[in-house]
Amino acid sequence: MSKFSRRSFLAASAALAAAPALGPVFGAVPAFGDVDVAIVGAGAAGIAAARRIAAGGRRFALIEAGERIGGRCITDTASLSMPFDRGAHWLYARDSNPIMQLTAQTGLDVYPAPRGQKLRIGRRNAREGELEDFLAGLFRSKRAIVEAARGKTDIACSRALPKDLGDWQRTVEFVLGPYAYGRNLSEISAMDFAHSAERDLSAFCRQGLGALLAKLGGDIPVLLGAPATRIDWANGAVETAKGIFRARAIIVTASIGVLDSGKIKFSPDLPKRQLDAIGKLKMGSCERIALELAGNTLGLARDDLVFEKSEGARSASLLANVSGTNLFMVDVAGNFGRDLAAQGDKAMTAFATDWLADLFGNDVKTAIKKTAVTRWNAEPWTLGAMSVAAPGGENARKALLEPLRDRLWFAGEAAHETMWGTLGGAWESGERAADAVLKKIGRR
Ligand SMILES: Cc1cc2nc3c(=O)[nH]c(=O)nc-3n(C[C@H](O)[C@H](O)[C@H](O)COP(=O)(O)OP(=O)(O)OC[C@H]3O[C@@H](n4cnc5c(N)ncnc54)[C@H](O)[C@@H]3O)c2cc1C
Repeated sequence: MSKFSRRSFLAASAALAAAPALGPVFGAVPAFGDVDVAIVGAGAAGIAAARRIAAGGRRFALIEAGERIGGRCITDTASLSMPFDRGAHWLYARDSNPIMQLTAQTGLDVYPAPRGQKLRIGRRNAREGELEDFLAGLFRSKRAIVEAARGKTDIACSRALPKDLGDWQRTVEFVLGPYAYGRNLSEISAMDFAHSAERDLSAFCRQGLGALLAKLGGDIPVLLGAPATRIDWANGAVETAKGIFRARAIIVTASIGVLDSGKIKFSPDLPKRQLDAIGKLKMGSCERIALELAGNTLGLARDDLVFEKSEGARSASLLANVSGTNLFMVDVAGNFGRDLAAQGDKAMTAFATDWLADLFGNDVKTAIKKTAVTRWNAEPWTLGAMSVAAPGGENARKALLEPLRDRLWFAGEAAHETMWGTLGGAWESGERAADAVLKKIGRR
């Protein structure tokens, strides 16, 4: 990762001629001053946009608030003995995911994720008939939500659920709401849910998905530790603590949580339509407790995904033996996960340990070697996990996608109508915003 320095005041497009291994070759980031495009945020969307703008031969500044790139897709190689993805880990819909086409260039090991999941009922695995009942309930519920989304009025997903789910109701609610989207079904727009693209047939990266994204962004010059504090989209200027950039076009990829927090001032104020859209797209909550065990004490296979038949909101998911290691990732999400995370690391680890012990026996307690937890809701430049439209927010993403005065474009996972909440969606939205900008200002 190139770091900003005044001596490196070179045109970002200077070295585009050579054919690179990972995409365009970049010059250094301009320290301040005039660029064609200012890109705020160096997560997946910002990286994708920067690569595209560079390929179009235009000068850009990639401006990042934090001290690293990757945003919500980051692999932690320090906390445990193996790499652990703190955020995105699944490359969903591998056949259509735009990142999939680039994985070969990174030299990392990407492999198909196993299909399906295991279901625990107390200390035993669900029998075949029980699993079928659960899957049938899941399928009927999805179909009912999609059906409800055909109506004129947007409603909460919870209102569309079949009434006869019986004792599978809590599990279905957990899997379709907190597990999939980080919010409870009562807080998710049925229309947004229905637009969400199928996430089946995924892939994993053995070294971590964050490591893969870091490779894709590794050559791009970026100005780190420079939060954008004011965006003047009438005149084309981005103010940061390290200087002001004047730009013909501005792409903003900060999360909905950051946009809603007011940390970035817009001048003039954003139009009501965009403000309403930001208000309707709430951040979901998804936090991870990573456990390094002494061995495969749970008796599960590589990359086994496990749910429990739950009776209440205190539930979680487990990804076991991640990429064949002794890493076990317990995800807590939705309102329960948010409240638990607010209680701190100890409470999170205690919950994960007890939850695993309830499902697999107490041996797990003595097998834990190291632990690590995430706190995405408290990350100042993220403030949550992924965007989800609240009921009535069915048009919010469309509004966010409208450029303002052909000067300001929003990109990022929230600005994708079908792949929202995903890494692939963020990447594609960054590319699309860059394409729209290049169409406006032209290529070189
Ligand atoms: C726990 C968790 C698990 C997930 N699991 C998956 C998964 O398995 N598969 C999947 O596809 N997706 C998953 N996601 C979602 C996925 O991580 C995101 O959709 C994607 O990474 C978002 O990318 P982005 O570029 O839109 O935003 P971000 O990654 O948030 O990037 C935005 C960047 O902007 C920076 N920024 C913010 N404000 C400013 C500012 N004022 N000035 C400058 N920079 C700023 C931030 O620091 C950040 O680097 C998960 C997310 C979480 C939290």
